[in-house]
Amino acid sequence: MLNVPSPAFPAPGSQQRAASGGRSKVPLKQGRSLMDWIRLTKSGKDLTGLKGRLIEVTEEELIKHNKKDDCWVCIRGLVYNVSPYMEYHPGGEDELMRAAGSDGTDLFDQVHRWVNYESMLKECLVGRMAVKPVVLAKENHEKKPLNGILLKSKVPDLPVKEISPSYDWFQTESLVTIVIYTKQKDMDSESVIVDYQDGCFRAEIVVNDYSYLLHTELSHEIQEDITARVTEKTGKVEIILKKKNNVSWKYLGHPLESHNSFTAHREKGLYYRKCKLISKVDVTHDTKLYCLMMPPGTHLQVPIGQHVYLKQTIAGAEIVKPYTPVLESLHSDLREPLHPHNKYIYVIIKIYHTGLFTPHFDCLQIGDYVSLSNPEGNFKKSQLQDLEELFLLAAGTGFTPMVKILNYALANITNLRKVKLMFFNKTEEDILWRNQLEQLADKERRFEVEFILSEPTCEWIGKQGRISLPLLSKFVKRSLENSRVLICICGPAPFTEQGIRLLKDLNFSQEEVHSFTA
Ligand code: FAD
Ligand code: NAD
Repeated sequence: MLNVPSPAFPAPGSQQRAASGGRSKVPLKQGRSLMDWIRLTKSGKDLTGLKGRLIEVTEEELIKHNKKDDCWVCIRGLVYNVSPYMEYHPGGEDELMRAAGSDGTDLFDQVHRWVNYESMLKECLVGRMAVKPVVLAKENHEKKPLNGILLKSKVPDLPVKEISPSYDWFQTESLVTIVIYTKQKDMDSESVIVDYQDGCFRAEIVVNDYSYLLHTELSHEIQEDITARVTEKTGKVEIILKKKNNVSWKYLGHPLESHNSFTAHREKGLYYRKCKLISKVDVTHDTKLYCLMMPPGTHLQVPIGQHVYLKQTIAGAEIVKPYTPVLESLHSDLREPLHPHNKYIYVIIKIYHTGLFTPHFDCLQIGDYVSLSNPEGNFKKSQLQDLEELFLLAAGTGFTPMVKILNYALANITNLRKVKLMFFNKTEEDILWRNQLEQLADKERRFEVEFILSEPTCEWIGKQGRISLPLLSKFVKRSLENSRVLICICGPAPFTEQGIRLLKDLNFSQEEVHSFTA
């Protein structure tokens, strides 16, 4: 497998990097939008120059196709002729050319792993690499029954601390319990994602940057309410299945793809399930709170600071965008949540009328379905441990990751003396959950909120402007010289990039700043 060296991709300040955070993109020529691309792929035009033939591509052949008008790229062993796509690429032609005539898998994974390139580029498929690329080993898919004997995972080159989990199962008259031994401390129920649909059982156990997968077609039917229990100290995970009929199971099931494998996240595709839209409520003039219900056989809790991908088919193409789930409200610690966290997901989404995904999403009716992925993201709860001061810098919908962080920190971090939210918006009408934030600040003496508007009306008496050194130096200040602080920052890419630079100038270390990007 060819590999393009890519430690600094996308280059700091490049258009592509900006695009990964949100809206700053390379301006595309008229008639070169994604919709135009979809139209072209459906026109029947020969986009590979091979008249529909698929070929085996050798490394020597691949390297030859390295020019803009003749550009082949390999992604996960499949080779695409991306020349026709050049002008449609939102990140620009130059970024695409970085992988010309070579293996672009790493570059692709680092920038937008969630993009469904198979669907987007299917008319550009030239063929397969003749040399099979090396991927982390997966369990063989032989259809032999699982009878509780531990299948040995093949896990090459894992760091020493990442030892592959193993599983076992036992049964009573009415229950089947699957036990997974992760041998990891600090596991919690957020680490366990279970799906059961049409007889197929899938459990993904997240262990740091890896996940352990059980994937089987169960030998008997079960009820859909599945319970997952985690013993934090030992890392033992128990998944309890209720039998539909009280018969004795001779074996657990037949293995399905990647069963009993332990793989790095970046090696894995995203898994989606269909969720039902059950409510949408206005938050501001252009932003709504949507509640999605997961299928009955799913157990999934999105960890704080992490996002999911929502997927819809728009004009025949699968379009995927990331969103950061929030709580039902900022007061949800005061009473039992209306809906359990492992069955319902709330997202606050701003609708861009000229956007690709959001206008379509907003057209969904109550009862319609949207696909939702497993969570991703590099924020870890442990970053909040022993914290004394927490600063949250949010702009626009960049507020969404702050919701759970704020709530969790106030409820769980005993040493926390202060949480300050600096919330940047264009106008007063754009401020999300303003009443709730003001109420929280009244009630909770450790919490303070400041709104800063970049396009205020003349009645606005609060702070004005965009993120700047004078604003930050007043707001983000340690109250004691050695305070343990964390500063979280999220918003449009230029806002986040500028904020990171300014915080560096204010002598905060890299570990003290967490920025949210895709
Ligand atoms: P897009 O098609 O991306 O367009 C957005 C805007 O950019 C429009 O005004 C459009 O006209 C303009 N535009 C599009 N292409 C170009 C171009 N080539 N040149 C110039 N302008 C262009 N958003 C939320 O609302 N809530 C969240 O919780 C949330 N969480 C996120 C989490 C992560 C990790 C990331 C990276 C983003 C998150 N976002 C969130 C943003 C979200 O993923 C989408 O980017 C957003 O919803 C816009 O999608 P869209 O397809 O509707 O708009
Ligand atoms: P917006 O356009 O309404 O702007 C909100 C504020 O951001 C402005 O008032 C201004 O203070 C600041 N801002 C905007 N552009 C700026 C620039 N060029 N330089 C400095 N400051 C600037 O914001 P929006 O439409 O709500 O967009 C929110 C952004 O946050 C989107 O790009 C979205 O992708 C991103 N987001 C990222 C995540 C994540 O986890 N990575 C989560 C949610 C949202």
